[in-house]
Amino acid sequence: MGAKIDNSMRGMVGRSAAGVVAVSGTYGNFQVLHAPVLVLNASYEPINVCAARRAIVLVLKGVAMAEEENGHFLHAARVAMRVPSVIRLLEYRRIPHQTRALSRKNILLRDRNTCQYCGVVLASGELTLDHVIPRSRAGSSTWENLVACCHPCNRLKGNQLPMEAGMKLTREPRAFNLHTSRHIMRLMGRSDDKWRKYLFY
Ligand SMILES: [Zn+2]
Repeated sequence: MGAKIDNSMRGMVGRSAAGVVAVSGTYGNFQVLHAPVLVLNASYEPINVCAARRAIVLVLKGVAMAEEENGHFLHAARVAMRVPSVIRLLEYRRIPHQTRALSRKNILLRDRNTCQYCGVVLASGELTLDHVIPRSRAGSSTWENLVACCHPCNRLKGNQLPMEAGMKLTREPRAFNLHTSRHIMRLMGRSDDKWRKYLFY
């Protein structure tokens, strides 16, 4: 099932609504409840990814309906219900073209936990953030000046510009927006046939 998501994507899984869905708390249910679910706007436009638990809450509250199921059953207090793999909001939500909050988590998500100098992929805890233009040289803390960086590259670069340290960014850092999110949704959906038709068009 689709619960195998790496660290870089874990940030996309929405907050679970604790306590709303009563489950027996077995390991099986735990895995099922954390499976990623694609969230579509009322217009079928993919807008987010959340954990199955949150998706079930949205369906039970009548905010969304299940479009696809993942083949698993959730055995809750008295009922067994099918776990959705794709849900669709019943009312259209305007998604502003805002960028996401600037945070360590979101920078690592944007850079897919990849050091932007040497390309190594590491767990979040093993990465640091690098100011491309060092803070000591008035570099700002912005989307365009912060990148995921491994510790060896960070030490090597020190208080230099990449060029001075003989280093090169693998790509230009940009703000994290809906376009980036959709790219990540596509990466996640590649292995899930039920997501494909909503993500590749
Ligand atoms: Zn590196």
